[in-house]
Amino acid sequence: MKAVVYKEPYNVAVEDVDDPRIEDPTDAVIRITTSAICGSDLHMYEGRTGATSGMVFGHENMGIVEEVGPGVASIRKGDRVVLPFNVACGFCKNCMAGNTGFCLTVNPGFAGGAYGYVSMGPYRGGQSEYLRVPFADFNCLQLPPGNEHEDDFAMLADIFPTGYHATELAQVSPGETVSVFGAGPVGLMAAYSAMLRGASRVFVVDKVPNRLQLAERIGATPVDFSKADPAEQIREQTDGEGTDKGIDAVGYQATAREGEEQPALVLNTLINSVRPTGILGVVGLYVTEDPGGPSESAKKGELLFAMGKLFEKGQRMGTGQANVKTYNRQLRDMIIAGRAKPSFVVSQRVPLQRAPEAYERFDKREEGWTKVLLKPRQ
Ligand code: NAD
Ligand code: ZN
Repeated sequence: MKAVVYKEPYNVAVEDVDDPRIEDPTDAVIRITTSAICGSDLHMYEGRTGATSGMVFGHENMGIVEEVGPGVASIRKGDRVVLPFNVACGFCKNCMAGNTGFCLTVNPGFAGGAYGYVSMGPYRGGQSEYLRVPFADFNCLQLPPGNEHEDDFAMLADIFPTGYHATELAQVSPGETVSVFGAGPVGLMAAYSAMLRGASRVFVVDKVPNRLQLAERIGATPVDFSKADPAEQIREQTDGEGTDKGIDAVGYQATAREGEEQPALVLNTLINSVRPTGILGVVGLYVTEDPGGPSESAKKGELLFAMGKLFEKGQRMGTGQANVKTYNRQLRDMIIAGRAKPSFVVSQRVPLQRAPEAYERFDKREEGWTKVLLKPRQ
């Protein structure tokens, strides 16, 4: 079958790889209908991780069940399903508590598994025609048959639940004000989720014009960080206080403002944007190692985080991978009921064959390339 294979930094190719097969009785094989490219894939694409040549990318997958192992009970051939990006067992201590992003079984020694992601287990990615799904009863979410809401449901594999998770970490409540850093797909989903939870005002910080326009289109207040210090811009619009809650959907790989030698850590700007005792939800990626980091400490992933400022303001913070399964059923039902339409972020649907070009343009944050869906059969 065809799959998106990582070759070297800034180079992926569509190549033939072995078809996946049932390896364990609890496996299923899915025929992929949609697999999205994620900002997380770009960390590997840009060569900033230990991703090795030959790896197949793709953790935002949905499709039709092609085959199930003899130990699979709840899904059958022909079912339409979406797969949380987390590969999880369902029975370890963390899974039992709903923390499926930190499954202790699937990736021993490193909490949490994912498809097609370096250091998150041996699971091949789904930017391909077929995908093997371990613990398939646990890792498939059933969808209504047909092809309605395909783009919306594709958002359930990662970014919609991840955006929602950010608002859960920050405990966003009705009537509150929220600062969201990053208007990439994850930040936009976090802003959208904050509104679904009844936030009164949501500021979205970025500098890419069409991403800020999308934020405005869903009712958020855009803040262009290239114009002036975003924390100051937010405080000015909140009686000098800052917002009640804050979300980091950028992570360690922030872009600098003009005139800045090194980009400020978004986390620190977020602390300055949120009022004392406010809560921060951090879903943007921070790594334990960044071989290309600008300094020795940055290479080790030790960033200059303003702990003193966090303490002084009595703020709290939640971090980590999203536990997709905790939210995806409810978010699916909101889509079916017409109460949520996360596909507003989707900008392109391209055949799998065009993945190399799509990676290049999405990586450049090219105007109009916000969220790309790869379609194996088009
Ligand atoms: P993305 O790279 O498309 O979006 C990041 C956005 O941040 C871009 O639009 C960029 O212009 C903006 N940005 C850069 N520097 C900034 C700054 N200083 N201030 C404000 N905005 C700035 O990626 P995405 O797909 O939206 O993902 C965002 C982050 O979330 C990535 O780090 C990704 O790895 C992470 N992620 C985490 C999870 C999770 O489970 N926790 C899941 C998916 C993605
Ligand atoms: Zn993703």
